[in-house]
Amino acid sequence: MSRLQLKPGKEKSLLRRHPWIYASAVGRIDGNPGAGDTVEVRGADGRFLAWAAYSPASSIRARAWSFAESTRVTADLFAQRVHLAVQRRAALAIDTTAVRLVFGEADGLPGLIVDRYGDQLVTQFQAAGVDAWRDVLIDALLAATGCRDVYDRSDGATRVREGLPAISGVLRGDEPAAQIEVQEHGLRYTVDVRRGHKTGFYVDQRDSRRLARELAARSLARTGRGPRCLNCFCYTGGFSIAMLAGGAEFVHSIDSSADALRLAGEHVALNGFEPSRARWEEADVFTALRVLKDQTPPFDLIVLDPPKFASSHHHVDRAARAYKDINLNALRLLAPGGSLLTFSCSGAIDVDLFQKIVAGAVIDAGVEAWMVSRLGASADHPLMMTVPESEYLKGLHLVRVG
Ligand code: SAH
Repeated sequence: MSRLQLKPGKEKSLLRRHPWIYASAVGRIDGNPGAGDTVEVRGADGRFLAWAAYSPASSIRARAWSFAESTRVTADLFAQRVHLAVQRRAALAIDTTAVRLVFGEADGLPGLIVDRYGDQLVTQFQAAGVDAWRDVLIDALLAATGCRDVYDRSDGATRVREGLPAISGVLRGDEPAAQIEVQEHGLRYTVDVRRGHKTGFYVDQRDSRRLARELAARSLARTGRGPRCLNCFCYTGGFSIAMLAGGAEFVHSIDSSADALRLAGEHVALNGFEPSRARWEEADVFTALRVLKDQTPPFDLIVLDPPKFASSHHHVDRAARAYKDINLNALRLLAPGGSLLTFSCSGAIDVDLFQKIVAGAVIDAGVEAWMVSRLGASADHPLMMTVPESEYLKGLHLVRVG
């Protein structure tokens, strides 16, 4: 068994049960561990700190499996963690067939993402540790879920930073259907697990899609007229369909991807909505918001759910300007009394900073706004209290009051 000895003072985060060991914290390596091998981690004073998976190419040089010396890092441990993860999702009793079954650190499996779409499992192995235990983890997933088909989407940028090749393809069972149908809160969506973003669908926005639907319904009940809605960065129309279901007069949706918009359009018919209530615009949101300002009456409900603008701490300033720009221009399009649901999925921008950026946009837009709630990922993406970095998705619900 190889051993990592930390530099003096570098044991603090492990003692707080944070699982990441940065390369800069490692003082000495005894042995010659390979990628994903289990290593023993000790403090500078020699005391046991953790069992961890070694990642030779990553700045996160090791990720802890356990902080208890008595733990045995064997196939049984992984099977048990997978079973627990699946059981805990079942206990949530979410009304959907699209669920995140495993969410990395929160499930004691750093770097592993598993989403379930109907009976199809889709995996992302984003760290050397879970990659080394791939077969064990897949067997456990099949046993815990009763599913047969597993498709791998380990083709994201995170893996490349780990020094692992980007790969995708069938791991077990059959090739997935070109489009897999899922149901979320009674609405129907199709997911392209081979070519879609992430594992195919933004499962994490489930609660906020329901909120958008409720806001549309409330607006209709209050005014007797369906709200006029705008969905920016709509992808396959998740929020658009939800707002149509809530009774929107129409939803204007913008995305730069023609493929995403094609699927989005199909979702309108799939849910039986009148096609004329959905307007799709293939455009850059930054430009489109400026053009819309001169063309349309204000909107009653606006969703801004952009891609990650800051991929690391180095890009925070530029990202902040981009967030401010779209929020400012969206606020100018919002009718008094209307709601803006605005999001950031940049891990490098925390909720306080995001709130400050949006407050700046409110000031510059010359409007008055309330923040009525903070929004986040749904309960199947829990935040491990010891790992605050995993809170990547945050949102604000603003109401224009003047
Ligand atoms: N709200 C969506 C997820 C949004 S993902 C949902 O709930 O499913 C971000 C989307 O932004 C992607 O579909 C991507 O194609 C689109 N996008 C990225 N940059 C863009 C830009 N500058 N203008 C318009 N769309 C953009």
